[in-house]
Amino acid sequence: MVIPRRYKRLQQVLGNRQPDLTVLTEDVHKPHNLSAIIRTCDAVGVFEVNGVSSKSKMPTYSQVAQGSEKWVRLNTYPNIKNAIASLQESNFKVYAAHLSQEAVDYRTIDYTQPTAILLGAEKYGVSQLAADLSDGHIIIPMLGMVQSLNVSVAAAVILFEAQRQRLAAGMYERVSLDSDTFKRVLFEWAYPEIAAVCHQKGEPYPSLGKEGEILSESRSNVN
Ligand code: SAM
Repeated sequence: MVIPRRYKRLQQVLGNRQPDLTVLTEDVHKPHNLSAIIRTCDAVGVFEVNGVSSKSKMPTYSQVAQGSEKWVRLNTYPNIKNAIASLQESNFKVYAAHLSQEAVDYRTIDYTQPTAILLGAEKYGVSQLAADLSDGHIIIPMLGMVQSLNVSVAAAVILFEAQRQRLAAGMYERVSLDSDTFKRVLFEWAYPEIAAVCHQKGEPYPSLGKEGEILSESRSNVN
């Protein structure tokens, strides 16, 4: 059984998750960069990350994530067009972190609205197609000699501005996940092995009590 203190922590973390704030990575292929982005997403309260890898499979998580992949789901898409369209259909504005002429200072965006931050490949940046399909371009002003930041650093800078705005707007004071998703993910976090067995058997998750205990009347579901 999950210990009550841990169960409470899982509830708190899920309560802070912001399902309408996300990241879309386009061909970010270095595992340590992707892992660092996911780790930042966990810290900011991003619920799910989206990624596209046009050349190869999405890289696997590296140790840099320190286990954050367990807490932030990574959705992959076959191509950037699908990914952007899917986010826009779900009401997200997609802002490309992109060093273009039309880019505006990242601090001028209202991140309290449903927002996806598009981040480009380490070497080539955001593709022209993705830049064209995005709702706007944002830039972190660079006043030094180098032209760009490491992609995971850029992600952190922008995401923590989003967190700042959302904290100021009280968006972490209320639970944003719908109740079914909250219960489902809470069970998966608290009992990953049992959740996997339920999946295999196509059975529903058992109900949990106040302290995270599996309620006896539903225990038979997982045998
Ligand atoms: N040569 C590439 C270019 O011109 O875009 C540099 C890519 S940069 C190392 C990788 C990604 O980090 C970029 O595609 C962008 O998403 C993000 N990035 C890095 N520095 C940024 C900045 N100053 N403003 C906005 N995004 C930035």
